[in-house]
Amino acid sequence: MDMASHSIPEHSYDIVVQKFGGTSVGDLERIRKVATRIGRYVESGKKVAVTVSAMGRTTDRLISMAKEISSRPSRRELDVLMATGEQQSIALVTMMLHSLGIKAASFTGAQAGFLTNEQSGNARIVEVNPEKMLKAFEEIDVAVVAGFQGVDDEGNITTFGRGGSDTTAVAVAAALGASECEIYTDTEGVYTTDPHVVPSASKIDVIDYDEMLELASLGAKVLHPRAVWYGRRYGVKIHVRSSFSYSPGTIVTSLAEDKKMKTERPVTGVALDLNHSRINVVGVPDHPGVAADIFMALGHANISVDMIIQGVPGDASRQQMSFTVNKDQVEDALDAIKPVLDKLGGTAVADPKIAKLSVVGIAVGSTPGVAGQIFEAVSSVGANIEMIATSEVRVSVVIQDDKAKDALKAVHTAFNLDAVQ
Ligand code: ADP
Ligand code: ASP
Ligand code: MG
Repeated sequence: MDMASHSIPEHSYDIVVQKFGGTSVGDLERIRKVATRIGRYVESGKKVAVTVSAMGRTTDRLISMAKEISSRPSRRELDVLMATGEQQSIALVTMMLHSLGIKAASFTGAQAGFLTNEQSGNARIVEVNPEKMLKAFEEIDVAVVAGFQGVDDEGNITTFGRGGSDTTAVAVAAALGASECEIYTDTEGVYTTDPHVVPSASKIDVIDYDEMLELASLGAKVLHPRAVWYGRRYGVKIHVRSSFSYSPGTIVTSLAEDKKMKTERPVTGVALDLNHSRINVVGVPDHPGVAADIFMALGHANISVDMIIQGVPGDASRQQMSFTVNKDQVEDALDAIKPVLDKLGGTAVADPKIAKLSVVGIAVGSTPGVAGQIFEAVSSVGANIEMIATSEVRVSVVIQDDKAKDALKAVHTAFNLDAVQ
C-alpha cells in the first residue's frame, strides 16, 4: 500500500506543484518557456515544486539502445539507464531558471525523498519524505524534481513505469500538503478520447477521479493511473492543461454522487490500448486446477493479467484459454507458464497484433444497450470482436490492431462524443 507517512513541517509560504511532460521540455527553447512560466509564480511570492519528464523521446531512445544489446536487458540496469533521462531535464531546467535569476535546485528521485519497493520498472512508492526539499525552500524558490524514479531500501534506483512522472508530481503535492497539482502537457486537457487520433474529440472540463482512473488504466495516457490514485487518496485536485497556452484545462476531482449521476451521456470517454498482447494457451487438460496453476505461476512472476477468456474446447478433454498481458511482459509470461505447460501438456503463443478499446462512464453498467451500441459501431468498420470484458463503469473489447483507430472513431461518434463544430 502506498503511503506518505510523514508529518508536513510548518511553513509560511504557498507551494505550487507543477509537472512538465516530455514534449513541454522537448528542447532548450521549450525549457526556456517552461522556466519563464515558473518564474511568474515565483514573482507572485510562491515556492514552486516542479516535476519534469525526460526531454521528448529520450526514454524511448534509451530503451531502444538497451534493446540493441539484449532483447531482455537487466531490469535493474534498465532503471538506472531510464532514470538518466529525467536527470538531464532537471539539470537543464534548473540551469535555465538560474539564467533567469531564479533561485532553484534540482533533486533526483532519491534526493526528493522517494522510497519505493524493489520492483524494477514498475515500482510503487512506499514513502515520500520531503524534508530535503523543504529545507532547501529556506534558501531557494524552485525545487526541480526528476519524474518517475525513486530508490528502494537497498538504495537501488527504481522507476515507476512509463508515464510515471505524473505520479511523482501528485505524490510531491501530497507530501507537501498542496491541494492541487498542475500537469502541463501537449493537449488542452483530458478529452473524450485521444485528440491526436480523433481530432473531433471534446474537451472535458471536470471529471471524477474514478472515471479518470478507469480511462487512465485503460490506455488514455494523458495521466498515469497511479497519479489519479494518489490524487484521490490524498485529496489532491489534478489540473491537466497545456504548456503552450494559459487556458484552463481539465480538473480531476471528487464529484458528488448526484452530480455524477446527472450526466446526460452514459459514456464519458473512450480509450484505446495498444500496449497489450494476447497469449493463447491451447491443448491444456480440461479439469479443475489447470487455470489456477497457470495464473498462480503468472502471479508469482509478478505479471498482471488483464482480460481472460476460456474457450469452448474442440476435444472434450482439452481446453483453451487466452489472456492479455502488457507487451513488455510477454516473454516473462511465456517463461512463467512454461513449466506448467511442460507438466500438463499444452502450448502457448503470443499475438501482439491486438488492441483493446474501452468505453468508460459512471452509468455504463446501468444503461441498457451500451454494449450493443459498441458492438454495432465496431462491426461497422469490419472489426471482429475477439474478447469482451465488462464492469459497472466500462465495457472493453479486444479487436485486431489494424482496425483499432477506425473502430475508435466509430464508437466515439456512436456515443455522440464528437465536439459540436
Ligand atoms: P506528457 O509527455 O506531457 O506526459 P503524454 O504523451 O504522456 O504527455 O500524454 C499526453 C498525450 O496523451 C496526448 O498527446 C494524447 O495524444 C494522449 N491522450 C490519450 N488519451 C487522451 C485523452 N483522453 N485526452 C487527452 N490526451 C489523451
Ligand atoms: N520519461 C518517462 C516516460 O517516457 C516518464 C514520463 O515521461 O512520465 O515514460
Ligand atoms: Mg505522460
